[in-house]
Parts: sequence; structure tokens; C-alpha cells
Amino acid sequence: MTAFPDFPRARDFGGTWAIDTFHNGLPGTVGVFLVPLPTGGFALVESGPGSTLENVRAGVEAAGYDVEQLRSVLVTHIHLDHAGAAGALARATGAEVVVHALGAPHLADPTRLVASARRIYGEAMDELWGPMAPVPGDRLRSVEGDDLVDVGGLQVRVLHTPGHAAHHVSYLFPDGTLFTGDSAGIRLPASPLTRPALPPPELALEAWEDSVARMRDAGPERLMLTHFGEVREADRHLAELPERNRLWAEEVLAGMNAGEDEPALMRRVQSLEDRELQAGGALAGVRVRNKAVSDAAMTVMGVARYWRKHHPDRLETAG
Ligand SMILES: [Zn+2]
Repeated sequence: MTAFPDFPRARDFGGTWAIDTFHNGLPGTVGVFLVPLPTGGFALVESGPGSTLENVRAGVEAAGYDVEQLRSVLVTHIHLDHAGAAGALARATGAEVVVHALGAPHLADPTRLVASARRIYGEAMDELWGPMAPVPGDRLRSVEGDDLVDVGGLQVRVLHTPGHAAHHVSYLFPDGTLFTGDSAGIRLPASPLTRPALPPPELALEAWEDSVARMRDAGPERLMLTHFGEVREADRHLAELPERNRLWAEEVLAGMNAGEDEPALMRRVQSLEDRELQAGGALAGVRVRNKAVSDAAMTVMGVARYWRKHHPDRLETAG
């Protein structure tokens, strides 16, 4: 049986460093990426959650940089695992924060974002996610999609990639690396297959399929997944994703139409994932790590809402 790869704080993927946030104490689940800039200093893609800021600092140092040299933080979307520490980083360093225009107001004032996360995570909220500081207004740089933004001398193409979230963007760097956030799903190290990332409240599979087409058209050389790391067969990975999302969404729909309640739907999703991991010969640790990134409860909430909102005609039972 193969072993888990080891997880350094920072790993060099051909000029791009993957920094491990060790979120929840688990390696290889939530990444932040460091890209050196021609004009000096570096950019980060994603910030990680507020709770792992010290691990990101240590990762930056392990890559040979000082956090003071941070110029830009490009977040793919505003979920806490991707943007939680953006405000703290901007405040500490004066770095700008690049985000889709629909997400920008929530980074300027995270009150509502944090309140809705607190409703989901309850008591565990603070330990899991840590504080989320507002990004100062003059540090925010809004993008829309199809913009070309100059990041320290690099022309970065912004692709609007809704589906996981309406304001999700992916960033194509000049070396052909596409930072996909969650728009290419979740594929952790040592995992034999992609785990769909289907959370509430904005999941939209049709929009996601258009986003996949947009990403494939852009012809990336490789993908960098926030969860977690490099995918070299970019087009194949993207081509398979819509089918993976559909398979999981249909599984939840089948349960809904069989009248299952939420706990039963969660068991159904977990059992689908377990069967897939087992068939793929995954190590036991993959299950634990997948669960830490996106669990069955989140998936059921996201997918059930999607069906009710977008395709009520597919629901056979009332309610
Ligand atoms: Zn995520």
C-alpha cells in the first residue's frame, strides 16, 4: 500500500509554492499559493482561514520570503477557508486584495458572512475559522471576469467561474497555471478521485458547467486546487468534473424522492463517497481529510437547495 506523501510547510511546484495551512491540524487539506513577482515581493492566491494565519506566515518563511514582502492576495471566493485571513494580511502588510465585485462588500464588512457561518458551525466556529478582519476599503480591488489584471508585473487573466459560488473566479497566470479555488472540485493528495464541492447557498450546476467550458477554453497547462495542489492533466480533470457533480447531485435527488430525511441523505452521500474511495483503493486518511474540507452535511444542504431552487419539477414528493 502506498504511503501518504509527506507535507512540508511549503513545496515548490516549478516556481509556485504551495503553502500548507494545516487547517484542523490536518495536512494537505487547505492550501495557499505563493507566486514571486517580477517587480519584487510575492503574491498569494487565497489567504487560508483566520485560524491558520501563523501557519501561512511560517510557510512563507519556509519558501524563503518574509510576509512583509506580500503585495497582493488574490482570493477565488469569500468562503472562510479561502479568504478568512485576507483582511488580517492586508492590514499587516498593506497588500491589496483581489476579489470578484460581488464578493468585495463581504470582505469590506464580513459581519453577515461570519454570522451565517456561525449559524452553521455554532460553538466550533472560533476554533475552526478564527477571526475574520475586514479588508480596508482602499486595499480592495474588484474584478468581474475576463479582466486582465497586472499583479506585480504579471498579467493575470481573471475567469468568472460561478457554480460553487456565484462570485467565484479562477486566475490564469502567464505560465499557464490556473488557480481554480473550488471550481475544479476537491482532489486531495493520495486521493484516487475528485470529490465534488457542492455547498449552499449558491450551488448552480448549469452555471458550473459553463465555467468548466470557460476554463477548458482557456487551455491551462496545469491546475492548482486549493484543496489541494497541482493537477497536471488539466483538461482531463476538468472534462470529468461535470459528470462527477451530476452523479453526486442525482444521488441526493434520489434520496429526496424516496422521502429520506436529512440524516438519511447524509448517510447516503457518505456511503457513496466511501464506496468510491474504496473502489479507488484510497488510504483511510483520505476520508478524514475529505470530510474536513467538505462533509456530507454541507453537500446535502447545498444539493437539496439546488434542486428545490432550480428544478422543483424534479422533486416527486412535497416539501
Ligand atoms: Zn474551499
